[in-house]
Amino acid sequence: MKYRALLIKYAEIGIKGQNRYVFEDALCDRIRGKLKKIAEGFVCTREQGRILVECPEEYDYDDTVNAIKTVFGVWAICPAIVIEDASWESLTKNTGDFVEERFKGESFTFKVFARRSDKRYPIETPEICSRMGDYLLNRFPELKVDVHEPEVKLQVEIRNKAYVFCDTIPGPGGMPVGANGRAMLLLSGGIDSPVAGYMIAKRGVYIDAVYFHAPPYTSERAKQKVVDLAKLISVYTGPIRLHVVNFTDVQLAIIEKCPREELTIIMRRYMMRIAEHFAGQRKALGLVTGESIGQVASQTMQGLAATNAVCTMPVYRPLIAFDKQDIVDISLKINTYETSIEPYEDCCTIFVAKHPKTKPRIEVIERSERKLEGVIEELVEKAIETVEIIDIAE
Ligand code: ATP
Ligand code: MG
Repeated sequence: MKYRALLIKYAEIGIKGQNRYVFEDALCDRIRGKLKKIAEGFVCTREQGRILVECPEEYDYDDTVNAIKTVFGVWAICPAIVIEDASWESLTKNTGDFVEERFKGESFTFKVFARRSDKRYPIETPEICSRMGDYLLNRFPELKVDVHEPEVKLQVEIRNKAYVFCDTIPGPGGMPVGANGRAMLLLSGGIDSPVAGYMIAKRGVYIDAVYFHAPPYTSERAKQKVVDLAKLISVYTGPIRLHVVNFTDVQLAIIEKCPREELTIIMRRYMMRIAEHFAGQRKALGLVTGESIGQVASQTMQGLAATNAVCTMPVYRPLIAFDKQDIVDISLKINTYETSIEPYEDCCTIFVAKHPKTKPRIEVIERSERKLEGVIEELVEKAIETVEIIDIAE
């Protein structure tokens, strides 16, 4: 079957009123960007409530559909045949040929749906449905009409050409990235943070990322793992600017001056402060983490409160109420799981206490942090100044 068009349906962006064009344009841009890599000659246009992709003579159908399946905002992809001559005779014959080739003699129930954006078309919409139904019943005696629960919904759309389709391939849903600003993801090499980034991007938000490493305690390979994860999610999120921060000296200062059981919380508070700095630089409007209540010692309600207390920007935690298994399921779906479970050390775990505080009190943590005064400011500044920027292309 040769489909020369894909009709792209979207869900939520349809209800944005005046902003609708912003969303539709962002969606078109994302789709164009993906298709450019597959073949030349795709044409992507906005059409009354959907996006129309006209396909070139030669292209790889599976690659094309798979690429569009990574575009947030796409609710469904409907591969369609294009009938250049929409006269009734040509429309029925070509639709019949399409049914023959697509279903090869199968018997099924069907219903015809029609849309006529070209109101000059001489036949009214209800009549297109009934006359097309009759034509198909005549030509294929094995078919039956069922107007209530048809097995096949045959859709005919008449514009200046006609488009006929019956398959609906689900897209990822969400909103096109770029429609809702930018956020800074704290990206570690674990399972959770890549999923968190994916989820926020799904709501139309561009993602940049910060990764804290602690050479020589953490290896080049651990860093490469994070770069690999950023690359994997960029398929969905678009390009990511990854900030790699050398956190060793900050961490060593905390170890030297503060109680070991408070290390993780204090470290996380410094991570947030530094991440906020880069978020401001990138005009991001929030931070994103992969935290989930109760998952580990630092993610108790008290731990989260202590971490949160240093932030002036909103911190988005899309996984906050997710069970680990649900997070794993998403990471499998978006293809980050295998990379996330590679066994490389994380800067959070190397110096971690055997019995970290699970119910830190903010005043106690603040008191411990005061012991860092006079030392930590310069170390934080140096960590910021020596940041390594890695631009991850999609
Ligand atoms: P993940 O699987 O995302 O690593 P986790 O279950 O290991 O999460 P923590 O190590 O407590 O949990 O980290 C909680 C969150 O803090 C992470 O989801 C991530 O957003 C951020 N984070 C932790 N370590 C780092 C790091 N080295 N660099 C950047 N962000 C980090
Ligand atoms: Mg982690």
